[in-house]
Amino acid sequence: MNEDQLKRTLKKRLSGKKCKGKCAIHGESCNVVLKYKDKKIQATVDALNAIAGAPKHTDESQHYCEVCACAIRDNRPIDAYQRNEDGFIALVKGGQNRLETKDGVVIDTTFEEE
Ligand SMILES: [Zn+2]
Ligand SMILES: [Zn+2]
Repeated sequence: MNEDQLKRTLKKRLSGKKCKGKCAIHGESCNVVLKYKDKKIQATVDALNAIAGAPKHTDESQHYCEVCACAIRDNRPIDAYQRNEDGFIALVKGGQNRLETKDGVVIDTTFEEE
C-alpha cells in the first residue's frame, strides 16, 4: 500500500455519521461524529468515552463546530475564535491578535490586506 492509498483508507475509516446540530456560538454545523462507519473505531471511541465518563452527544448537547475545535485544541475559551469573511479562523478574544504556544513561540496571525 502506498502513502496515498493509506491516507485514503484512514480518511475512509475515520468518516462516519456526523451530528446534524449547529454550534450556538459560531452558527456552523457540528463537527462531532456520532457513529463511525468502522466498527473497530466505534468500539474504541465507546470504550474511551466510558472511561472518561463522557455523556453521549445528542441533539441537546452543546454542539462543537470546526471553530470550537480550534479553541479546545488551544485551551482557549470556546468563543475565542471566529471565522472571518475570508473563511479563515481567527483569534478574536484574548486581548491580542496572536497565538503563543507553550514554548513561547509567537505566531502572528495578523495578515496584510491586499
Ligand atoms: Zn452536535
Ligand atoms: Zn463553534
